[in-house]
Amino acid sequence: MAKWWISEMAKKVAAECLQLHGGYGYMEEYEIARRFRDIPVAAIYAGTTEIMKGIIAKEILK
Ligand SMILES: Cc1cc2nc3c(=O)[nH]c(=O)nc-3n(C[C@H](O)[C@H](O)[C@H](O)COP(=O)(O)OP(=O)(O)OC[C@H]3O[C@@H](n4cnc5c(N)ncnc54)[C@H](O)[C@@H]3O)c2cc1C
Repeated sequence: MAKWWISEMAKKVAAECLQLHGGYGYMEEYEIARRFRDIPVAAIYAGTTEIMKGIIAKEILK
């Protein structure tokens, strides 16, 4: 549950931060551009968000 929540929240926060920076946020000179690009992989490796949901659903239905 924590991996799902934190991964998806990190994606939302990174997107908000990029938006806050405006056009600069999209440029490689600003670190947020890399963060925005790198953070979504957390919802893929070590079990995707969708797989996390499947595991949680199975636990709830036990
Ligand atoms: C940077 C990085 C590091 C990695 N390191 C390792 C590592 O050290 N060791 C290791 O073993 N693997 C590693 N992986 C592989 C990683 O675990 C897989 O990428 C991950 O399990 C997703 O598998 P996939 O890429 O084949 O995507 P797919 O399984 O093809 O998934 C594609 C999409 O379909 C969805 N999906 C797939 N199956 C279902 C389902 N049953 N129900 C609902 N949705 C589904 C997924 O959620 C995803 O959105 C790494 C991947 C990355 C990107």
